[in-house]
Amino acid sequence: MSYDNENIFAKIIRGEFGCIKVYEDDHVIAFMDIMPQADGHTLIVPKEAAETLSDLSDDGAAAAIKVVKKIVGAVKVAMDVPAATVMQLNGSEAGQTVPHIHFHVIPGSILGGKPHAREMADQELLKGFADKIIAALG
Ligand code: 5GP
Repeated sequence: MSYDNENIFAKIIRGEFGCIKVYEDDHVIAFMDIMPQADGHTLIVPKEAAETLSDLSDDGAAAAIKVVKKIVGAVKVAMDVPAATVMQLNGSEAGQTVPHIHFHVIPGSILGGKPHAREMADQELLKGFADKIIAALG
C-alpha cells in the first residue's frame, strides 16, 4: 500500500500538528501518546516516510531503535517503574491505527493495562510526564 502523506504522524513530523515532544534528532521524533495505555506512554517515530517496519530502511530502523533504547531508560527513571514494554504494530490487522511506523514505550506491563488508543489523557498531565522524561534523558 502507498504511504499516506496526510497521516497524523506525518503532520506532526512536518510541524503542522502539535505534540508533547520529549526528544528529536535528524531521524527520529519522540512524543507523548495522547491516548496512553499507562502514565508515561511515549511514541518513538522515525521521520522517514514508511508505514510499517518492513517499509523502513535499515538505517532508519537503526536510528529508531537507538532512541527506543534511550526512551526505555528515561521512562523507567521518570515514571519510577522497574520495567517497560516496547510495542510495535505492523498493519491494521495487527491493530496499527496510525499508518506511519512507530514504536510504543509503555511503562510497566500492557497485560491487563488500559486499552489501546482508546481514552484521551489530560494534556497538562502529559506535559508533566514529558518534563520528567526530558529530565531523565539528561
Ligand atoms: P498504533 O495503533 O498505530 O500502533 O498506535 C498509534 C498511537 O498513536 C495510539 O497509541 C494513539 O493513542 C496515538 N495517537 C493517535 N493520534 C495521536 C495524536 O494525534 N497525537 C499523539 N501524540 N498520539 C496519537
